[in-house]
Amino acid sequence: MGIVENLQKIQNQIPPHVTLVAVSKTKPDELIMEAYSSGHRDFGENKVQDLARKAERLPGDIRWHMIGHLQSNKVKYMASFVHLVHGVDSFKLLNVINKEAAKHNRVIDCLMQVRIAREQTKFGFSRDELLEVVQSDSFGELENVRIRGVMGMATYNENSGQIREEFRHLKRIFDELRTGVFSKNKSFDQLSFGMSADYQLAVDEGSTMVRIGSLIFGARNY
Ligand SMILES: *Cc1c(COP(=O)(O)O)cnc(C)c1O
Repeated sequence: MGIVENLQKIQNQIPPHVTLVAVSKTKPDELIMEAYSSGHRDFGENKVQDLARKAERLPGDIRWHMIGHLQSNKVKYMASFVHLVHGVDSFKLLNVINKEAAKHNRVIDCLMQVRIAREQTKFGFSRDELLEVVQSDSFGELENVRIRGVMGMATYNENSGQIREEFRHLKRIFDELRTGVFSKNKSFDQLSFGMSADYQLAVDEGSTMVRIGSLIFGARNY
């Protein structure tokens, strides 16, 4: 099946309030333009250099999502245009995003990454670390970032029971923050979890943003 059919099929399976981020990492401009031509506007990349190069070449109304691990010294390459940063995993990084956003007179939307997988390799805050950061005075002083919610990546395996448990864990932290620290902040409303293999489960468990690559564009060759 073609890219447009793949997109349509997924779109038909998720409720309208769930954003489908088409993960175009490693894929050429032509394939992105195929999706774009059918009306799709949300695309995700996991490397800043690729994100910046593609944003420069492709139409200006694409909403670019930075979904990968982000190094502070690279924020400057995307600060002028990035739509949403999914994986904020340290206060230091958030601080740099804030500074770079200020240089462009904009507010950058961010999601705080929570470590939900059992694997040790995944980035992100624990619940306690995250609560400590968002309750700190220095967090309250950041004016050029807006926290839209949380993001997480489940363990990469076939155990749907475990994946569901990890998604629920993330949802509980989101609810705790939404009704607590962020209760006056109406724009704290996004939960980014779910990929090609587990997006239906993710939507079941309350995801508002699924990040899907291979199911749309086919397998990646690195
Ligand atoms: C690559 C990637 C995805 C998409 O993965 P697929 O399995 O191809 O859907 C989602 N989220 C992140 C953070 C990624 O790096």
